[in-house]
Amino acid sequence: MTGTTPAPFTAADHRARMERAVRSAADAGLAGLLVAPGPDMVWLTGYTPTAVTERLTVLVLAPGRDPVLVVPALEAPDAEHAAGAAALTLRDWTDGKDPYAVTAGLLDGRGRYGISDNAWAMHLLGLQRALPETSYAALTDALPMLRAVKDAAEVELLAAAGAAADQAFEAIRKVPFAGRRESDVGHDLAGLLTRFGHSQVDFTIVGSGPNGANPHHEVGDRVIRTGDMVVLDFGGLKDGYGSDTTRTVHVGEPTEEERRVHDLVRAAQEAGFRAVRPGVACQEVDRAARAVITDAGYGAYFIHRTGHGIGVTTHEPPYMIEGEELPLVPGMCFSVEPGVYLPGRFGVRIEDIVTVTEDGGRRLNNTTREMVIVD
Ligand code: ZN
Ligand code: ZN
Ligand code: ZN
Repeated sequence: MTGTTPAPFTAADHRARMERAVRSAADAGLAGLLVAPGPDMVWLTGYTPTAVTERLTVLVLAPGRDPVLVVPALEAPDAEHAAGAAALTLRDWTDGKDPYAVTAGLLDGRGRYGISDNAWAMHLLGLQRALPETSYAALTDALPMLRAVKDAAEVELLAAAGAAADQAFEAIRKVPFAGRRESDVGHDLAGLLTRFGHSQVDFTIVGSGPNGANPHHEVGDRVIRTGDMVVLDFGGLKDGYGSDTTRTVHVGEPTEEERRVHDLVRAAQEAGFRAVRPGVACQEVDRAARAVITDAGYGAYFIHRTGHGIGVTTHEPPYMIEGEELPLVPGMCFSVEPGVYLPGRFGVRIEDIVTVTEDGGRRLNNTTREMVIVD
């Protein structure tokens, strides 16, 4: 399912975000920012082009200048509304004109620019050809805090998305699992996310039995059986902000080993959560969760980072991973999702979205982290 419902922010909110972005860019020594359609553009302006094509659309932000949205002429009618709302100047270009020359006319001709991580390579190459003396940095490297630190209204939108995902879990734990395919349960989950207010479902992972040991497994045709562990990881967007939660359930009574591994992952998730407080480096959250699993002898089976940021997308920086020294700041929102994956047998993952508060962390997912037994 695709399509977005814009978050309920006003033109004044968007203008304030663009002004903050320009100030941050100047502080970072950048000549300006080039913002591609996608999460940066929707966060800054509220504008999402109806279709993102090979035709260049770019928002140019530079200190001392009004924001300018460069758009293909055929997108201009759609863009006008958003541009008017966010007080953007529109600069349209028609087929046959060089959009990079149009954009180059808005830039200094030299200096370093931040550019959206998801900008198309062909557009960056076009700009480099038009302005050989400019250089570029990925926006999340240059301004890692820009979207990573949420304001209070954004945190509450993420909390509401989390609460809706929690409602979906409370409903899915009551449906029959044994005898149904993973794809059937995944379909149920997607319907529940939508019923509880999501406008977009990004993923519904149902990893039963050995499929749960593959963190990249989504859903398949495997028929779920009594005795299976089932990893349920699902999320999407509600009112423009993301949800992403994982619970691992068991069909019928678990074995002693299954219970032990589930308890271990739960303890690791708790340790990761307890590491969250302002000033602590992202990697400390990973280390805290990983230490619990490693100390129990399962370190080789925890094969991914502990978490990722969330906001107007369901996966974004910052990452809770060894080597990430970015300090946690109140308002950051990210997942804490350790797992243990026993190849060919089963997997367990437990995931909450957490926000950094002044004195610790606050969970935005609040369903039980104890092992839930399903039918
Ligand atoms: Zn079992
Ligand atoms: Zn997830
Ligand atoms: Zn996640």
